[in-house]
Amino acid sequence: MRLQGKVAIVTGAGRGLGKGIALKLAQEGAAVVLADMIPADEAVREIQEAGGKASAYTVNVTKQEEVAALVQYAVDTYGTLDIMVNNAGINRDGMLHKMSKENWDLVIDVNLNGAFYGTQEAVKYMRAKGYGRIINISSGSWLGNIGQANYAASKAGIVGLSKTCARENARKGITCNVICPGFIETDMTVKLKEVNGGAAWDSMMARIPMGYAGKPSDVGNMVAFLASDEAAYITSEVINVGGGMIV
Ligand code: NAD
Repeated sequence: MRLQGKVAIVTGAGRGLGKGIALKLAQEGAAVVLADMIPADEAVREIQEAGGKASAYTVNVTKQEEVAALVQYAVDTYGTLDIMVNNAGINRDGMLHKMSKENWDLVIDVNLNGAFYGTQEAVKYMRAKGYGRIINISSGSWLGNIGQANYAASKAGIVGLSKTCARENARKGITCNVICPGFIETDMTVKLKEVNGGAAWDSMMARIPMGYAGKPSDVGNMVAFLASDEAAYITSEVINVGGGMIV
């Protein structure tokens, strides 16, 4: 119970990685606001049935006023905000020479602008409090990946945003770190099983030294560590959780 008494927000927590992260933070004792555009009630029920504290909150992370209201909701409901996990994200893959401006804008808006609003609104509150843990979910793709110019740019932007946030707020008791998941089995990635009769999935597995896809809990474990007091001297880091895939 490393996070007993702490209050966390996880965006994109209705399913996938965000849900896995929220479950882990709650297991460690944090009260968690699960924020998403889709209902997060199922995950909230799971946490409550296990004796944890959680509530669902509807948010579109591309709207700064909604993200500001989300932070206020956590403070009003649980008394404070200690941990902000900016996880909501989408992909709209396609080769750069065929990529529509619409798909470029959409991915940048959700992944990068969303992380900016979440980080900024959290930092405004945490600076006054003199304590905070911000954990932003990027991707191994930030280093460049075929078919993902928009996604890679948004995820590289998250690294720059977070490293700057870490430096600006290090003396205010706030740490800011980035996690780069490799290939985790969620709704975002499972569609690959349908491509070329499963051949695309198999070739992805072949790229992972450990030979299998990660689970949301693998990322949740790292988030819980970074959110804990054990990680007090760790800031501005980019940490891969990818079974050896990201080099
Ligand atoms: P997912 O599609 O299963 O879940 C994403 C969640 O974000 C969904 O619940 C969705 O409703 C929510 N969301 C999307 N747009 C939103 C918006 N505008 N406002 C609020 N919520 C919104 O995907 P996932 O695999 O769980 O991915 C979670 C994060 O992890 C993303 O940022 C993704 O880029 C990153 N990531 C995933 C993998 C992987 O292998 N799955 C790898 C690297 C990085």
